[in-house]
Amino acid sequence: MIPGEVITIDGPAGSGKSTISRALARMLGFLYLDTGAMYRSVALAAKRYGVGKNDREGLSTLCKCIPLSFGTSRLPPVILLGGEDISAAIRSPEMDLLSSDISAVPEVREAMRDLQRKIAQGRDVVAEGRDMATVVFPSARHKFFLTATPEMRAQRRYAERLSRGESTDRDTVVRQLVQRDRQDETRQIAPLRPAREALIIDTTSMTINEVLDEITSKLRDKGLEILRAAAK
Ligand code: C5P
Repeated sequence: MIPGEVITIDGPAGSGKSTISRALARMLGFLYLDTGAMYRSVALAAKRYGVGKNDREGLSTLCKCIPLSFGTSRLPPVILLGGEDISAAIRSPEMDLLSSDISAVPEVREAMRDLQRKIAQGRDVVAEGRDMATVVFPSARHKFFLTATPEMRAQRRYAERLSRGESTDRDTVVRQLVQRDRQDETRQIAPLRPAREALIIDTTSMTINEVLDEITSKLRDKGLEILRAAAK
């Protein structure tokens, strides 16, 4: 693999990583790699094609055959399944949980890891997910792990759902978030956890700009040339 510059941003749901990753990618002119969207797309495809969440062989075959395309030229990227834009459909509460279920399957993780590395090959990337720093890009020079209290993360998710016009109640959002966290943190392969060398940022009482400032100042300290040039 010919490495480009990889910035990894991992963390649990509602930690702010999507907002921050997109803003950072836009600011730097880097590719934005939304790996959660990939697991969500496999989950949606599994549902559509009737492949069960415990059917390892079926999911493995699905990963090899599904006509998925991940756009990289727009933010947020457009995701197509057999020509249909599924960018909105993968964001449902059902896909929140199903993506977490199928992401514990070794064959799915292997296929996604290979695809993520292939897309990133030779490019400058902001890679967002759960295992970007620990598994997929362990030699990335810039690793961040965002977190926030469960209450704040649930509040952000709840507000996001309301802004999309979905009817939901706060308790359901909290319950689903806690369940998904538990699954993601306790699975056997690539569990959600910060890499030893990652900078952990608690975003609970920070604004988006404050988080971005903290990350960009760290990137500058560590010699990301593109930011040095921009600061001159
Ligand atoms: O980040 P997002 O909430 O879209 O991710 C959906 C699910 O995909 C997560 O709950 C997690 O189970 C899974 N995921 C993963 N590894 C990644 C990204 C997402 O296991 N790198």
